[in-house]
Amino acid sequence: MSDRKPIISGNWKMNLNHFEAIQTVQKLHYSLPKEVYDSVDVSVHPPFTDIRSVQTVIEADDLDILLGAQHCHWEETGAFTGEVSPAFLAKLDVQLVVCGHSERRDLFGETDEMVNQKVHAIFKHAMTPIMCCGESLDEREAGETEAKVLSQVAAGLDRLKADQVASMVIAYEPIWAIGTGKTATADDAQTVCNAIRNAVAAQFGADAAAAVRIQYGGSVKAGTTEELMAQPDVDGALVGGASLDPDEFARIVQFAIA
Ligand code: PEP
Repeated sequence: MSDRKPIISGNWKMNLNHFEAIQTVQKLHYSLPKEVYDSVDVSVHPPFTDIRSVQTVIEADDLDILLGAQHCHWEETGAFTGEVSPAFLAKLDVQLVVCGHSERRDLFGETDEMVNQKVHAIFKHAMTPIMCCGESLDEREAGETEAKVLSQVAAGLDRLKADQVASMVIAYEPIWAIGTGKTATADDAQTVCNAIRNAVAAQFGADAAAAVRIQYGGSVKAGTTEELMAQPDVDGALVGGASLDPDEFARIVQFAIA
């Protein structure tokens, strides 16, 4: 067992308005015993319009749940209609920002270079990136999983310092498993997460590789969490659909440290 603290993150995508978000985070809090947070980090990533409301609840009720965002721009201000500055997120006490999610890459044209700029911007504002990578079904069937994932990781981590890489989170999310009900087997998840850790070691050294936390994401449910988390290179989960149900999400958190 590694001494990396597991991290379970709920990506709410474009779901839950700010009233629903408040209820969800409060229910999640009531479903989790306080001691849980000694053993696992838990973050929620609401839509932008919910972040201020969720921040207020977390701060007013002194919750141990970490506040996250799903995306940001890399510039601080400027003519980027519809975009959100990392500086604005930091001002709302956001701690973790997802970047490079496959839905952003596939639906909104985010490139590896943009993802790298975001990772740098997130660090610049003292937040932690959760940088996503993952292969499509075609790439998997063509035997290109590792080549694809490792090229995304190398590009996304470009020009970072080893201590930054050590502190961040990488989420391995096979695209064919996101929102489909299909999950990679625990063995497959371990193989790819191990390849990511080895690539980090080659690029940034053994200490960064030993410290970086690697999540698996793709239709994670409570029933699949324990086996995934038993894998030596899987340090957590990025959870979409199942994180919208606070009871199921709380079960995932508890199975992560079972
Ligand atoms: C995700 O949103 O990153 C994700 C993995 O979604 P789901 O758990 O619904 O597959």
